[in-house]
Amino acid sequence: MKKRYPIAIPVLNGNEKKYVTDCLDSTWISSNGSYIERFEQGFCDFCDTKHAISCSNGTTALHLALMAHGVERGDEVIIPTLTFVATANAVNYCGATPVFIDSEPDTWNINPELIETKITPRTKGIIVVHIYGHPVNMDPIMDIAQKHGLFVIEDAAEALGAEYKGKMIGSIGHSATFSLFGNKIITTGEGGMITTNDDRIAQQIRLLKGQGQDPQKRYWFPVIGYNYRMTNIQAAVGYGQLENIDWHVDQRIRVAKLYEQYLQDDVRLTLPVQKDWARNVFWMSSIILNKGTVQDRDHVMIQLKERGIETRPFFYPMHMLPPYKKLQKEEEFPVVNRISALGMNVPSYGTLSEEDVKFICMNIKEVLDGLV
Ligand SMILES: *Cc1c(COP(=O)(O)O)cnc(C)c1O
Repeated sequence: MKKRYPIAIPVLNGNEKKYVTDCLDSTWISSNGSYIERFEQGFCDFCDTKHAISCSNGTTALHLALMAHGVERGDEVIIPTLTFVATANAVNYCGATPVFIDSEPDTWNINPELIETKITPRTKGIIVVHIYGHPVNMDPIMDIAQKHGLFVIEDAAEALGAEYKGKMIGSIGHSATFSLFGNKIITTGEGGMITTNDDRIAQQIRLLKGQGQDPQKRYWFPVIGYNYRMTNIQAAVGYGQLENIDWHVDQRIRVAKLYEQYLQDDVRLTLPVQKDWARNVFWMSSIILNKGTVQDRDHVMIQLKERGIETRPFFYPMHMLPPYKKLQKEEEFPVVNRISALGMNVPSYGTLSEEDVKFICMNIKEVLDGLV
């Protein structure tokens, strides 16, 4: 039978099963239990932050962080237009308006030079997204934020383990959010985490994720909160994954280097970069067609699918999606309009062998040969 290559597969090759069994045997299956604390402690140790707070997914992590930073109805929050929809939606959940920014052509991340033109008296903060695993150029962004009194949240859903000038992603902004969905660097099935060095933000997030209950007074709710908790079972999986975090990160990088090895000479393609100040964790290996149309890109994807190779298109930019398209004009985003039409992610998971990547690359080249 022909081998099939999905875009992503979680790799659960550590103590995950043992720890989950421990939860079941001990009946600690809900949102209390020792794995929650162990996972949170391990996570903030890894990210080099004071706090890590678990929650139900990466989207609720963003919502919690925005609320803790005081985002309210009528506020504006600056975000990159090239991101997963959760970044924009979380801003909307607060009744605030996302304001979109075009990307840098090489890293595909938010372009710091375009941010100040979009700051208004209503701007409360900036969410940066380390897209596909490459860190955002944080220094200019932190400078802008300081100058204008804004918060910075790192949406680090795709970048656990990445580094910026030797600092861990997740430790640079005022807070950072992570997703632990099945295709992320490490997974808990569904799950999220928020890191911060700010005691007040951490305390506010813990309050809001547990229905707003006063930690000193049971069934007393000083604010309207949410049930955004992670379960001990999820944390058990996550703790098992975190024990092998270096392996998980190294595999993504290994796979990306193999794609680079077999594709970098192909003048028809652009590959992800790694700036000299960055450690890119290559959450998703990617290719962008240098020429052609969105139809050509889609044709390549269909042809690869027929060869058993699953790909996925780059995210549609936020400024094109129906709930957000009225906010800004399409012409404002020339860089993202091009890369989102011509980019795709290719199979990126830790158990791909060199032979697998070689086979995928050979097929990519053959399909490109067929493009006229
Ligand atoms: C995956 C992802 C999220 C959302 O995470 P979920 O756990 O699926 O809610 C948010 N932002 C970005 C950039 C993501 O890639």
